Amino acid sequence: MTRDEVLRLDRAHVWHPYTPMGAYRTSDPLVIERASGVFLHDKDGRRYFDANSSWWVAALGHSHPRLVRALTEQAQTLAHCALAGIAHEPASKLAAELCRLTEGAHSHVFFTDNGSTALEAAMKMAVQYWAQSGAPAKTRFVALNGAFHGDTIGVAALGGVEVFRRPFAGILLDCFHAPTPEESSYAQTFEAIAHELKHHGSSIAAVVVEPVVQGANGMWMYPPALLSALRAVCDRYDVLLVIDEVFAGYGRTGQMWASEHAGIWGDLMCIGKTLGSMLPLGAVLASPRVERAFLGDASRAFYYGHTFCGHPLATSVALEVLSVFRDEALVQRAQQMEAAMRPRFASLAELRDVERVRVLGAIAALDLRDDASGYLAKGGWRVYEEARKRGAYLRPLGNTVYVCPPLVSTDDELAAMLDIVEESVRASIAPAKR
Ligand SMILES: *Cc1c(COP(=O)(O)O)cnc(C)c1O
Repeated sequence: MTRDEVLRLDRAHVWHPYTPMGAYRTSDPLVIERASGVFLHDKDGRRYFDANSSWWVAALGHSHPRLVRALTEQAQTLAHCALAGIAHEPASKLAAELCRLTEGAHSHVFFTDNGSTALEAAMKMAVQYWAQSGAPAKTRFVALNGAFHGDTIGVAALGGVEVFRRPFAGILLDCFHAPTPEESSYAQTFEAIAHELKHHGSSIAAVVVEPVVQGANGMWMYPPALLSALRAVCDRYDVLLVIDEVFAGYGRTGQMWASEHAGIWGDLMCIGKTLGSMLPLGAVLASPRVERAFLGDASRAFYYGHTFCGHPLATSVALEVLSVFRDEALVQRAQQMEAAMRPRFASLAELRDVERVRVLGAIAALDLRDDASGYLAKGGWRVYEEARKRGAYLRPLGNTVYVCPPLVSTDDELAAMLDIVEESVRASIAPAKR
């Protein structure tokens, strides 16, 4: 098909996620034909560095040969079967490997098929855990302003990004939102949560947080000390801690798990995105304490599951992802990328319209000063257009321009991408102010 033919069908029939569809109809979207390594290739033969790893997934780049091999081999052996009461090799090996990678803090892995449902399952596990542990009143949640934990109705209650919440505000579960460290200080965040737990802990099932970096609200970063303080206060008031590593896990912050910056583990840990890398997969890692509460009479079981839970293709690719992480030392690579990106972003901080530059592991972000703030701000989209002309895909979060490149990027690829970011930011700032 030609580019125009694809676009004609697309405009007539595809409802795009996170896309104002009115404006989309008259826009000029990328039409991607194929992707390999760190590049997306469009229908016109142009290539774009995938600066956000295609929604934070492709840490191994696109079509990594080892993942493609794992996928095709698995497809010829066992392409699909249910996981309800059935065991298969890829799911069992992957679960064991994930438990090993969290040093035994978690003993069992519950598979879902995306990040939102991993969080959704964790919320249900937390509530049912307390119901079966003599504390049925513990049903509420605590989360942070600016949090993003996915889009199903349950997890939308945890979410703290105002535009995403607003249409559903009237039907969401009860959740206490603490100010983020970004709005105040991490001590104030901690105080707000500690106060809530102290006075209402008997009604709270869990505190849910993205560790060290709040991704979707604009790459807001906070000190690991907050995480360790939250672990301690959850223990003190007997509240579960759910850590959402869906974005921050898999080396993105320079440690395999962002929790490791604080030296803590959650009672439940949710993962997704890079976990399946090119196939949809999510998982909840549960501590032995939580898992044990579901044993005994059949009525105590966790009656939850999605058709494609622990899909053989996705779990076999996920196993290979972990072995590529080991063989290509990708966690160390994220640390090297941090060192390379830090000075480049620091120099951008000197531009007049740039503020709040931040870098952690293989994540670098800056905010543009703009009339509007928040997710609907337009500033980042000017940079997006400039970057597109220069050969990089740089989808912004409102005024936040950020990169989270594939961890397999070479030094040269990374440097070329950073050049594009710099030129694009400069080009999008009014000439008098550059
Ligand atoms: C993306 C994301 C989710 C949701 O994952 P989906 O696969 O999009 O459902 C949950 N939590 C965090 C921190 C995320 O970044």
